[in-house]
Amino acid sequence: MTTTVLGYPRIGPDRELKRATESYWAGRIDAAELERVAKALRRQVWEGLRDAGIAQVPSNTFSLYDQMLDTTVLLDAVPDRFRHLDGLDAYFAMARGADGVPALEMTKWFDTNYHYLVPELGPDTRFRLPEPGGIKPLVEYREARELGMETRPVLIGPLTYLLLAKAPQGFNTLDLLNPLLEVYAELLERLAGAGVQWVQLDEPALAADRTDAELGALQHAYERLGELTSRPRMLVATYFGDIGAALPVLADSKAEAIGLDFVAGPGNLEGLAAVGGLPRRTLVAGLVDGRNVWRADLPAALSTAATLMGLVGDVVVGSSCPLLHVPLDLDAETGLEDGLRERLAFARQKVDEVVLISRALKEGRHVIADQPSRAPQNRAAPNEIDATRTDRAARAAAQRDALRLPPLATTTIGSFPQTAEVRKARADLRAGRIDTAAYEQAMRDEIDRVIALQEDIGLDVLVHGEPERNDMVQYFAEQLDGYAATEHGWVQSYGTRCVRPPILHGDVTRPAPMTVRWTTYAQSRTARPVKGMLTGPVTMLAWSFVRDDQPLAATARQVALALRDEIADLEAAGARVVQVDEPALRELLPLRRADHDAYLAWAVGAFRLATSGVADTTQIHTHMCYSEFGEIIGAIGALDADVTSVEAARSHMELVADLEAAGYAAGIGPGVYDIHSPRVPAAGEMATALRRALGVVPPDRLWVNPDCGLKTRGYAETEAALRTMVAAAREVRASLG
Ligand code: GLN
Ligand code: ZN
Repeated sequence: MTTTVLGYPRIGPDRELKRATESYWAGRIDAAELERVAKALRRQVWEGLRDAGIAQVPSNTFSLYDQMLDTTVLLDAVPDRFRHLDGLDAYFAMARGADGVPALEMTKWFDTNYHYLVPELGPDTRFRLPEPGGIKPLVEYREARELGMETRPVLIGPLTYLLLAKAPQGFNTLDLLNPLLEVYAELLERLAGAGVQWVQLDEPALAADRTDAELGALQHAYERLGELTSRPRMLVATYFGDIGAALPVLADSKAEAIGLDFVAGPGNLEGLAAVGGLPRRTLVAGLVDGRNVWRADLPAALSTAATLMGLVGDVVVGSSCPLLHVPLDLDAETGLEDGLRERLAFARQKVDEVVLISRALKEGRHVIADQPSRAPQNRAAPNEIDATRTDRAARAAAQRDALRLPPLATTTIGSFPQTAEVRKARADLRAGRIDTAAYEQAMRDEIDRVIALQEDIGLDVLVHGEPERNDMVQYFAEQLDGYAATEHGWVQSYGTRCVRPPILHGDVTRPAPMTVRWTTYAQSRTARPVKGMLTGPVTMLAWSFVRDDQPLAATARQVALALRDEIADLEAAGARVVQVDEPALRELLPLRRADHDAYLAWAVGAFRLATSGVADTTQIHTHMCYSEFGEIIGAIGALDADVTSVEAARSHMELVADLEAAGYAAGIGPGVYDIHSPRVPAAGEMATALRRALGVVPPDRLWVNPDCGLKTRGYAETEAALRTMVAAAREVRASLG
């Protein structure tokens, strides 16, 4: 019976890694200085875990950018376009692109907000280990050993690596399993040769639905690695959910230890019982939540652990997943409201919980007797509200009369460039250099400029530009009761980019209108309709740490009710169009298909609850910034918005046809240009995209807009692109006759 965690935050208590890496990119420090910072951070993590009482400390959880990228480099699976570079230049070029060489694609790591760099594999991929001095897990293992610590190097498991890679059409990355296993075999032999006792092979891909062929590959992989005569003992770590049919496969393998997540995957307990337990094996029991910020329910964790002890040879108490997804240290927070701090645990506190659970198992329950218990929170009774609007056609007719928009109406997604002046005004207000009146004047000046610009360009439905918003979730979280902000609660999102998600800890209510002042001010400057702009309930949850003492569906309803009141106030103040953004709708989709319907039911229900209180004449828009809808395509229509804008510039409009085929029958605004790049496409390009869309959608349902908000762009290119967009819309409109 010992203790471990599967991974730990690597950015440093004060985001030292971000600062050092960005200084390196800017040429202010050299590679040796970057390495010195990195080495100090690794040491801090290892010694911190050891001193907290963790018996089995992981290593190779550090990364200069991303652990999948590290694996790609370790395996030499580097795409040809980076081959002329080496060392850190190649590494960071893969992460960020360099001199016209595009970076690897970046995508979400399972259902988290962490993004990894997607390996590009194909028939020509040849895996190969570097010279021993370049084998990162080996180097870091030795580094820890010099500090007197025996650690467990963490590797991405071979199956997960292949399943997360992309390949040319028609090529199955699992065809590379055998050559990949040869390299893993060599790696394990080398690690054993260096004295490594245990390795951790992360296979989170097992928490999602897997085909028989994939389970066969899993079986084959660990049979091949298991039979090696010289290798460290293997911990196959799974996390983010139940592993279902993969559990019997791992139970039959030669892995000496298996890691199971009992927080996100409570079904793993049954699964374990169903295979008759693991009587001669070690189980790393994920009992402390690595994904959320709440203190563990220690008595409950203890009884799960006690049950597990009857099922397996040995229990190691652990975190449910690597602690990468929670902030580092609660002790750094000084401004949390009373009663909230006692309910929270960040990475450092979670480590203490792991140690405490293990001690209580050995010494008895009295060990946790003086720990605060998790106080139950109040639950607001859900109001019974009818969340249906009237017939879509009747609404469309009413809105046609009220808004009098041309076919192919033009608009934008909400934000305009966040200029240096806007950011400075915000910083000045925070630092007390200017007062609220001066700040608000600066915002009104910016709104004036954005409205005048849009009128001059000739857009049909205007926006106020969102200058007052730092972030689309935080802005609302700061104004809603039931949400708290942290000062230092940074979590890595990708590379050097860190976010500070707000904490949704109690019943959500709206003490006062949140956006009405700005929207009505903007509307007072123009006769054209200005869109009210809100963040939807699903996105408000997806980008926050959310209370876990009631179902997400119940929390989403509370947020929806607050938004419903906000929309009513906007409408009463004269708003004729309101947009409710849901860019995270797809992101919260559960990993397993069996859970999709239940999720979509509450997600769609929350959106409708927020938006169904308006008059027929009020037009509801929504926005999603991705174009591959796949399993949620039916849900887009079920939201029952009057207009949906989506990303389409890079996917060439196929999406519009897919949506129509799925029965979508309302307004649709497929983005006609890509806002991720400063390039301004020609009017002809945009017109072609619109004509293609008109092949499947009638002109009165087609909207013309960019792919997403403009806040990361500069004014010059934004103005040029929007003028071109309006010209393209006019050209196509004219040709309609
Ligand atoms: N209204 C937001 C904006 O324009 C939408 C952002 C998003 O989709 N992520 O910035
Ligand atoms: Zn977007």
